[in-house]
Amino acid sequence: MLLLLHQYSPMKNYRFILEPYNGIKTRFVCPKCHKKNKFTKYVDLHTNEYLHDYVGCCNRKIKCGYHYTPKQYFENNNISLIKSNYFIKTEIKQKPNPSFIDSDYMTKSKNSKNPNYFIDFLTNHWNKEVAFELAEKYNIGTSNNWQGANVFWQVDINNNIRSGKIMLYNASSGKRIKKPYNHINWVHNILKIENFHLEQCYFGEHLLNEDKNKPVAIVESEKTAIISSVYLPEFIWLACGSVNNLNESKTKVLKGRNVVLFPDLNCYDIWNKKITVLTKLATFRTSTLLQEKATEKEKELGLDIADYLINLKI
Ligand SMILES: [Zn+2]
Repeated sequence: MLLLLHQYSPMKNYRFILEPYNGIKTRFVCPKCHKKNKFTKYVDLHTNEYLHDYVGCCNRKIKCGYHYTPKQYFENNNISLIKSNYFIKTEIKQKPNPSFIDSDYMTKSKNSKNPNYFIDFLTNHWNKEVAFELAEKYNIGTSNNWQGANVFWQVDINNNIRSGKIMLYNASSGKRIKKPYNHINWVHNILKIENFHLEQCYFGEHLLNEDKNKPVAIVESEKTAIISSVYLPEFIWLACGSVNNLNESKTKVLKGRNVVLFPDLNCYDIWNKKITVLTKLATFRTSTLLQEKATEKEKELGLDIADYLINLKI
């Protein structure tokens, strides 16, 4: 009986579904890996329209893995769903204030003597001094969540700690550990803080205070920002965490700045198209450096700027 009730619950009436296969016209070019006929978009069942060209799932789950859900789309664009009488309407919601994490947690994790494979990777590539400097500058901590795990603390422009992203890297290759599962978690999850409202800022955002005139470079991953800051110190390097995390609300802190986006090779189009929206706030341009230099193979692999820089000898 319970099962039946559950099955007929109005909550189960999803409004947004991945479009069922109905011939090749229902499968599109993936915005990330650019493979044809591999991308399934979410459909809004109320309007029978696609939610957005980038909201969907690539069926190359391992090689590409792109999946941008309606939930993420609404969160990134500050839209909330209100359920009433079986209908769901969208409206712009009043944003709750971001929650912060006590700085003691960050200090403790930065002072931890436990293994940290990401810092080991930096040490192996340069030396202890450079690794230590980078860990200090970017607030890289250590977590016990997995052996060798690190924390990328997100400290905003006002020095508030938004949360910390816990990840696991391989100390020799510097690649993320994604098997047997994707090793990623958040400090506020581990601390089980009730009613925590995560509002991510740029990783490295606190560095904006150091020099108000210095140009800013934005990349997708924290690791890329950290590594690139060594090779190209003429920029303040920030990371937005994931390809769809580059958005307007986060970008207010860049007001009046000169900003260069360095998208990963397979995300050039996605970021370049965002410039029209972001440009109201600051001067943006997208670096074509990688795009011009990369081979087809490298494009498919989705290399980033750090993959290039790290092979340079300095
Ligand atoms: Zn794809």
